[in-house]
Amino acid sequence: AGVPHHQKTKYLKMAVALGHRVAIVDQLEDPAQAKGVVKRGVTQVVTAGTLADEALLADDASCLLAAVAFDDDARAGLAVIEPSTGAFTVIDGDPARLADRVAALGVREILYAQPAAGEAPARVRALAEPAGAALTGRAAWHFGASESLEAIREQYSVAGVDGFGLDPDAPSTRAAGAAIRYLRETQAIERDTADATSGGEFQSQQPTLAHLRPPTRETVEGVCVLDATTLRALEIETTIRSATGDPLEGSLVGVFLRSADQPRSVVRTPMGKRLIRAWLTRPLADAGAVHARQNAVGALADDALLADAIGQALDGLADVARIAGRVALGRATPRDLVALGDAGPRAAALAESLEQSDPLAPHKQRLDAIAPELTTLATAISTACIDDPPAHLREGGLVRDGYDAQVDEARSLQRDAGAWLAEYQSKLIAEFDLPSLKVGYNKVFGYYLELPSGQAARAPDTFTRKQTLKNAERYITPELKTFEERASTAESRAVERERAIFDELCTLARKHVPTLTAFADIAAELDVLLGFALKAKRRGWVRPEVVAEPTLDIHAGRHPVLDETLGRGFVPNDGALATPDAPASLALLTGPNMAGKSTFIRQNALLTVLALAGSFIPADRATIGVCDRVFTRVGADDALHRGQSTFMVEMVETAAILNNATPRSLVVLDEIGRGTSTLDGLSLAWAIAEALSSPTTADRGPRTLFATHYHELTELAERTPERVRNLRVAVEEYTNADGEREIAFLHRIGPGRADRSYGVHVARLAGVPASVTARAEEVLETLSVQHGGPSASKKKPEPSASTGQLGLFQSQPHPAVERLRELKLDAMTPLQAFDLLRELASSVDS
Ligand code: ADP
Repeated sequence: AGVPHHQKTKYLKMAVALGHRVAIVDQLEDPAQAKGVVKRGVTQVVTAGTLADEALLADDASCLLAAVAFDDDARAGLAVIEPSTGAFTVIDGDPARLADRVAALGVREILYAQPAAGEAPARVRALAEPAGAALTGRAAWHFGASESLEAIREQYSVAGVDGFGLDPDAPSTRAAGAAIRYLRETQAIERDTADATSGGEFQSQQPTLAHLRPPTRETVEGVCVLDATTLRALEIETTIRSATGDPLEGSLVGVFLRSADQPRSVVRTPMGKRLIRAWLTRPLADAGAVHARQNAVGALADDALLADAIGQALDGLADVARIAGRVALGRATPRDLVALGDAGPRAAALAESLEQSDPLAPHKQRLDAIAPELTTLATAISTACIDDPPAHLREGGLVRDGYDAQVDEARSLQRDAGAWLAEYQSKLIAEFDLPSLKVGYNKVFGYYLELPSGQAARAPDTFTRKQTLKNAERYITPELKTFEERASTAESRAVERERAIFDELCTLARKHVPTLTAFADIAAELDVLLGFALKAKRRGWVRPEVVAEPTLDIHAGRHPVLDETLGRGFVPNDGALATPDAPASLALLTGPNMAGKSTFIRQNALLTVLALAGSFIPADRATIGVCDRVFTRVGADDALHRGQSTFMVEMVETAAILNNATPRSLVVLDEIGRGTSTLDGLSLAWAIAEALSSPTTADRGPRTLFATHYHELTELAERTPERVRNLRVAVEEYTNADGEREIAFLHRIGPGRADRSYGVHVARLAGVPASVTARAEEVLETLSVQHGGPSASKKKPEPSASTGQLGLFQSQPHPAVERLRELKLDAMTPLQAFDLLRELASSVDS
């Protein structure tokens, strides 16, 4: 399809959104100089994972490409590249872990070795599906060990990959080579003609991958791993149900970027906005590293002048990381170039303002190392270019007056044209006595002299007729013709010269790409640290004490999102696991629906994530031990779109926790075991809580917050109080003016067990008809009698007056119920529990 090049972006967006790959074909030589047909060729291939143009990207989210290679079924490797900035990571691990990283990172496109049969193998599809990534099959040899090494060596001009800490035989190294080859083929296509024009918008050099950084290996060491399910359940980057259609609104990242209590984000630069996502999705697991960030945040929170100076130096800073990428890829615009010139003075200003701050000394050192180089580049750019350049170079207008003699000369010719024409017109009027003669210009015919039809007869011989209009005649003269040629060549000469200057500067900038990316990294870090500091100051957040021991002790903690939306209405709560005063590592939280159970357990996980990312937190004070992983599972989470039953998903996820949680992990479980029958669910919840609180392989289980409807579980705390602690959400029961029983949610968490769920009460609040809720109350009492529950009353159930549905609840209990009553659950292994379940189920069937 041919599209107007100035509307390219619109069509690209559309095509990529529809899942297409787009090959862009452009003129490869200057049409004015081409002999015969203008040479054309593919200059770029745009795919879902390789977007690098400003207009196609959101500035606060990354667009990632990955390649995957397998050794055998147990080991796989991933190379992940952000083509717009050149960030490059390799990861090895089992396929399940890699699938989780792909989903957590939100990778858009995955490259794989295409088998002869064509279809993507199942293990590749399993990787791509949860993330919704596009799949791109590539020739299998791209993933070969020696071919990959060759691609990497060539890219970085190195002899081997050991210097990058890569293992030449690892599958991730093979994936890395394949990814580089793909980027080269789609983004850095070699042009055989040097003077490509690209529609006159971009620099015309050969595109390169100069911005691709050396690959770094992603390890889980020093990092607190949040898997994709946890990220979703804790709503770190996106809300599950967004009211405004903006998924960031209401998420933890959104607290910094979309806060309700301030007009704009506390993080200012596009680089900072992307980095804060990275920090909050991959917090630290090393207390020392957390302290370093906290010290910087503290320094910025305490010193308003320093914070102001840094804020000013960062305000309005362009997306240097992506511009550096575009410079390398040969797609920088005049505005990009001028924005880079900005980096120098800002780097110098940042370095200067950090002079007095110890905690930020490492940042200052890094800035000092690059500022001179950036200043040299800035001077070159700002001497040549005006401050507010046009978006493209089609008509020139980038170079300053007085910078280049040729540009100046051509421009003055253009400028003087007006004066010359006016003079020429007066001369002709006087000479031939043609008072109505006018000099004009139009795009099609160029310059002309115009006479009303009535005076046409008086036109001198030197006038050659050019065009006849209804009421006028237009002419050209030899003098005007000569002028026209001079003027138009002056214009194209000026544009040509400007283009050459632009290209020179882009070539210069290209040499500084690594320095520019280094600056982008520092700016991003300072931006996020400052964001943390501003948040802490404005909302009264405190510095948590982050320690190596696995403990959790939060006083008057608040949910970071609800605290802002509810303001003073939010009730702070304490959270304590594995502390000297509350040694139990598992807290079992019971309480009515809607009381605040989910909020409380998530709040503690969110505060942990914030603390380990280096932020301060909304609480009075807190001691938080580092975590190797945070697991969050929500029962009945809707995963039906993946074609698995909700309960199956819940159990798969629970299995992952039981198999992977260590004494250093934090586990948050919300209503696990609800996707099946009550008895099944209760038994499973019991066994799971037991396994987490007293693992067979360690002294102590992971710090666990377990919210449940199954009040029966509270017995665990009575049996093993040193391992399990009961918490409940307080509610107040009262009788209202109409004599009806009501409850008020106090949202206060305290020790103890709840014995009722108040589900019927919530149903009433939700508008379930009174006749139904009243009947439900009756049924509830009957069932409570049969189950001998704590709230059992001695009352005999009465038949429902309207329906007479009595028999159902009056029949003798099934023998299975008797068996259950005699059960010693705590003496059973989960397997025995399952066997018994199966037996009970069949006894009910028969
Ligand atoms: P549960 O999990 O017990 O059903 P939720 O945690 O979903 O309850 O909380 C229900 C509602 O109660 C939330 O939407 C929130 O508005 C409110 N809420 C929860 N915790 C608090 C609190 N600490 N202070 C004020 N309101 C709260």
